[in-house]
Amino acid sequence: MPVKVAVNGYGTIGKRIASAILKNSDFSLVGVAKYTPDYRALIAARQGIKLFVPREKLEAFRSLGVEPEGYIDYLLEEAELIYDASPGGQGIKNKELYIKLKKPAVFQGGEDPTVAEISYSTLCNYTKAIGKKYVRVVSCNTTGILRVLCTLGVESIKSVFATIIRRASDPGEDIRGPVNSVKIDSSKLPSHHAVDVKTVIGDLDIESVAVAAPSTLMHMHVLEIKLREGIRVDFEELKERSRGRIVGISSNLADTTGKLIEIARDAGRPRNDIYENVVFTNMFEYRGNRLILVQAVHQEAIVTPENIDVAYSIMNMETDVYKVTDRVNRTLNIGALPL
Ligand code: NAD
Repeated sequence: MPVKVAVNGYGTIGKRIASAILKNSDFSLVGVAKYTPDYRALIAARQGIKLFVPREKLEAFRSLGVEPEGYIDYLLEEAELIYDASPGGQGIKNKELYIKLKKPAVFQGGEDPTVAEISYSTLCNYTKAIGKKYVRVVSCNTTGILRVLCTLGVESIKSVFATIIRRASDPGEDIRGPVNSVKIDSSKLPSHHAVDVKTVIGDLDIESVAVAAPSTLMHMHVLEIKLREGIRVDFEELKERSRGRIVGISSNLADTTGKLIEIARDAGRPRNDIYENVVFTNMFEYRGNRLILVQAVHQEAIVTPENIDVAYSIMNMETDVYKVTDRVNRTLNIGALPL
């Protein structure tokens, strides 16, 4: 029997988790909790997504032309697994409800790590999440960095320096900035990304700096990774080991995030989503034991596969991480991007 899933919060991340669940016959989507009667609710309803709403907002949804399936409390009671995709900081408040209902839940990277028993990234610690009740899937930037580090093998790494040029906002969040500046993203060193990496893989000599650039289309990372003596992994091997989660393209072919999004669009990816880290192959080089690489990370999409992978471990469905990544890759067409 497929595992019954609820998605609490239907924003950038929630809508992608819901779509991925709908594509995977190991799960069934009971519905999504929608809090605001807006254009997103209208589109979701027209696409046949079952919307559950707060009691006090029922009439507001109806006047938008949306007939909700029911109230949010019913949705959460019905589900066997809850995805919390609420705005960062709200998940910890929602957790009280999940505890009361005795339901396992997946939280997102905007929550403090203490919200969950473990912080998670598939290629690093899939098996640690087996049977856990509360797991936090780390944020988009941290996922992008961890995929590289864990594919290389954390034990092979001496130290890391990560520079993150992050997109200012998601496309629908036009109220956020910066609009015409590049902004320092953290008042101290390291930025929270280095700290977040350690919530998954423990102690590692890692520093990070982040700036926000006026763009909605993907983050860019410059990573300098010092490897231990004698360790060298070329790009093709990294790609192979990542089980499809890392792909490559030369910047001579596509040198902007805009071009990468165009590739996703032309490839027919839903919402132009790029689930993979895109490493620029001509910028993947060794200087002695230092690996320098540049990669682009699609913030809206990158955590989608990890969110689905982790359900297999929380719900005790599979112990072999590679069977899970292969299964999830097939349902999301990961590996089919013509790069
Ligand atoms: P979002 O603002 O796009 O969506 C959040 C949704 O939650 C909204 O639709 C909002 O109406 C709804 N909501 C409001 N109150 C709620 C409540 N009490 N309970 C549940 N939902 C409620 O946010 P997002 O970008 O999807 O981010 C969700 C989480 O995912 C955050 O923790 C964020 O840090 C993390 N994340 C975001 C990105 C990204 O690039 N957007 C990437 C990775 C991780």
